[in-house]
Amino acid sequence: MRGTLTATGIVLAVLLAYALSCIIRPFRDCWVCDGQGHFRSKSNRKLSRPCFWCHRTGKRLRIGRRLWNRARRLHRAAN
Ligand SMILES: [Zn+2]
Repeated sequence: MRGTLTATGIVLAVLLAYALSCIIRPFRDCWVCDGQGHFRSKSNRKLSRPCFWCHRTGKRLRIGRRLWNRARRLHRAAN
């Protein structure tokens, strides 16, 4: 029982830390273009294409923040 409580505490602490980090830094570098906003084609190095995933911003919302935004939108829609 004690072990279960400790495990739950650790999971909660990790979740809390992740939530806090999502509040402090809601954006992360795009994993497709490494935050460049565009990427070079592998066959032709001179050819640079705008990144489709981050819409050329080089930043993407983190999953935790996206979930949070969706939850807030739902909450607002309910009221
Ligand atoms: Zn990108």
